[in-house]
Amino acid sequence: MIDSPAFAIDEVLRQDEFALPALLYATDALEPHFDKMTMEIHHGKHHAAYIKNLNEAVKDTAWANASIEKILAEVTAKQPAIRNNAGGHYNHSLFWTLLSPKGGGEPTGAVGEAIKASFGSFTAFQELFEKEALARFGSGWTWLVMDTKTKKLKITSTPNQDNPLMTKLVKERGTPILALDVWEHAYYLKYQNKRIAYVKAFWNIVNWQEVNTLLAK
Ligand code: MN
Repeated sequence: MIDSPAFAIDEVLRQDEFALPALLYATDALEPHFDKMTMEIHHGKHHAAYIKNLNEAVKDTAWANASIEKILAEVTAKQPAIRNNAGGHYNHSLFWTLLSPKGGGEPTGAVGEAIKASFGSFTAFQELFEKEALARFGSGWTWLVMDTKTKKLKITSTPNQDNPLMTKLVKERGTPILALDVWEHAYYLKYQNKRIAYVKAFWNIVNWQEVNTLLAK
């Protein structure tokens, strides 16, 4: 088992085309919290489809060779295919690195301190994050971001595959350090309609080491 990620989100570099990053753990390594079949379909089918569609959507555009960060910062509502698939690629690439079979527990280090400073306690943070995850109607993502203006941690959520790096599309912006996919495809096979059970399972596999790495940047 790989301890520290060989792949980090800011290394989602393009060669010729965007490509599916390998998982840093086996698809059954997050059992019983995230099941093998969901991981296989989620990574191998859903994420792969966003990448295929993104490569097709940016072909012959000004973004044909652009980084994912540049695309996210510049995309507008007038390019729905690029918006949805660039978001889908970035969000899932980040999400996989934030999970670990050795994860869970309470965060230590700078993240532990920052969460206490921003939310009072880890438990208070979890309650707010869960509330945000349940309040997102339909498909979307829940985020813990560093607000670039206030330099404080903030919980937000976005619809569909939008994310807080989409400068021209999202009101609550910031740098994501934790992400949770709340699309039904992320939990339906194991948890059916019980999104809260999936959100609670997530706490057992959060890779706080990687969250600390992202915060340090
Ligand atoms: Mn997903």
